[in-house]
Amino acid sequence: MPVATSPTLNGLNASVIKVTRTTNPRPVPLPGSPEELSHSYCTDHMVTVRWTATHGWETPEVRPFQNLSIPPTASVLHYATECFEGMKVYRGHDGKLRLFRPDCNGERLSNSAKRASLPEFEYEELKKLIAKLMQVDGARWLPKSQPEAFLYLRPTLIANGPNLGVQIPNEALLFIIAVPWPDPSKAPAQAHPTAKPGLKLLASPPDTIRAWPGGFGYAKLGANYGPSLQAHGHAKAQGLDQVLWLFGPERLVTEAGASNFFIVWRNAESKKLEMVTPGLENQLILPGVTRRSVLELARERLSADTAGGLEAVEVVERQFGIDEIEKAWKEGRIVEAFVSGTAYFISPVSTIRDGGVDMDMAQPAAGKAGYAAQIREWLGAIMFGNEDHPWAYVIEEESEK
Ligand SMILES: *Cc1c(COP(=O)(O)O)cnc(C)c1O
Repeated sequence: MPVATSPTLNGLNASVIKVTRTTNPRPVPLPGSPEELSHSYCTDHMVTVRWTATHGWETPEVRPFQNLSIPPTASVLHYATECFEGMKVYRGHDGKLRLFRPDCNGERLSNSAKRASLPEFEYEELKKLIAKLMQVDGARWLPKSQPEAFLYLRPTLIANGPNLGVQIPNEALLFIIAVPWPDPSKAPAQAHPTAKPGLKLLASPPDTIRAWPGGFGYAKLGANYGPSLQAHGHAKAQGLDQVLWLFGPERLVTEAGASNFFIVWRNAESKKLEMVTPGLENQLILPGVTRRSVLELARERLSADTAGGLEAVEVVERQFGIDEIEKAWKEGRIVEAFVSGTAYFISPVSTIRDGGVDMDMAQPAAGKAGYAAQIREWLGAIMFGNEDHPWAYVIEEESEK
């Protein structure tokens, strides 16, 4: 066999993972407890994998949860060389643990890594690393006696090497943590119980944009989020929930907070119903896994008058400005608006504030399921195993005897 003259880099390989169990398990927080609401209390273990430019990916580890130790000169702290994913692991009605389309997240993380000069990887390995973590933490943190419980998963890739020079990182760390997360569908009573349920969005002012052509809005980089928090703070200060990010002189609608945006309206000419979301063509918008799933389900199940008595919708991906929303609102053509994403799932939008104008988004009549509710039900059935579907990835757990 010829000896390789240049070192070959190791690929990411979950099957060689090394597992070290904690001797000091922590209490599992109760639903709705301060620990859960803190969004900071993690399960007993985490996955870590080191990467170096000389060797590639090292042996992955499941190890007791602990703080990271990184040099103050680390690239990530200065140059935002970081990307991440947001996923959930679901305990099904049949007692099984599932991930939802995890290869979509794996592929997106690898794409984000590329944009931030971080190492790409064999993306199918991500779900296998998560499975290893859940084989250790799943039984206690998502007990089989609690179907419909879930944990939020945060796979993260950082350049943790010590070199302060502005350069492509030659060291990186992939880690995965699992966080108990409040269930948005079981949220505590609203501060204003008489208010219509649903999110209130603040249209971004012209002097603040989230992403731009040639930028990195399409990648889940930490660098997209820090600078957006100021606008988020302005929305919160007005009693609103999220920013509706607009772009350019046409004030094109892009997305809302860390969710994709959908509107169902009646087309003024054809009089047909349309479910519209902005297209991904100029790389401004994060290609949500939930967004893609909503589009695929809606095209498959809502394009003819069949489902639950809902009128058929034509599913459309195209650019549109906030002026089109305003026109449809004035003409009474809006049927529903909602946002989609892993963290807050499918959430209806009740209001969009643009400058001094509050536009009320219509909602289904009381007792009638609308489009958002129907899609939420379909997706939930896949996530929690009521429906066998290729989008669900079942995590094999050791059967307890
Ligand atoms: C994560 C994210 C979304 C939603 O993506 P999902 O894959 O559906 O969770 C949408 N927009 C932004 C900006 C995001 O960060």
